[in-house]
Amino acid sequence: MNEVKKYAYQCKAKKAVEILNDRRFDAHFADNADEAREIVKGLMPAGSEIAVGGSVTLQETGIMELIKSGDYKFIDRFNVSSWEEELHKYRLGYLSDIFVTSSNAVTMDGKLVNMDCTGNRVGAIGFGPKKVIVVIGVNKLVENVEEGIKRAKEIAPMNSRRINHKNPCDQTMTCENCTGTNRICNIISIIDGCYKFPGRISVVVVAEELGY
Ligand code: SF4
Repeated sequence: MNEVKKYAYQCKAKKAVEILNDRRFDAHFADNADEAREIVKGLMPAGSEIAVGGSVTLQETGIMELIKSGDYKFIDRFNVSSWEEELHKYRLGYLSDIFVTSSNAVTMDGKLVNMDCTGNRVGAIGFGPKKVIVVIGVNKLVENVEEGIKRAKEIAPMNSRRINHKNPCDQTMTCENCTGTNRICNIISIIDGCYKFPGRISVVVVAEELGY
């Protein structure tokens, strides 16, 4: 990566970490994906029960591989034979030790913005698992909640296509204001600080572009 661009990413990521820590998140700076994975590893005691949100970032950083390594009790929501079983695993995830996910956006005033189809991810970030670990690339940093929601909405067609939800936007990459049960854009959450349970949510901000 270009040196100046990398430096700009590092500065932005460090600033976000500072703001998130001020707002009682447990925020960490990572220079790259490998560092992010090591930080996450340090936050997950071996043997912990882990649930995850679907995330390209977790795949790109190797964190999914780490979670599946056998060192943890992984609630594998991807290995199911029916929708009912998947929903059951989502529910088990609420009682897990640690929920690991990315975020659709993190604002430079220290808020997490997410949009879900089912709501399992936004629900678990808000309450349930004892610990939440959020990993984001610098590309997900936005100025404020309004921009965060705009970002979540803009990437919804890509997410819809990725998880094969067969919404109209899968084909056009433009929101077609669908109304079916597979609609991605059902539930929006804003985590406005981590004051009730300080440090419950760790946020690892990586000075690289990750996921979308
Ligand atoms: S409302 Fe429907 S069509 Fe629009 S982005 Fe969301 S899932 Fe796609």
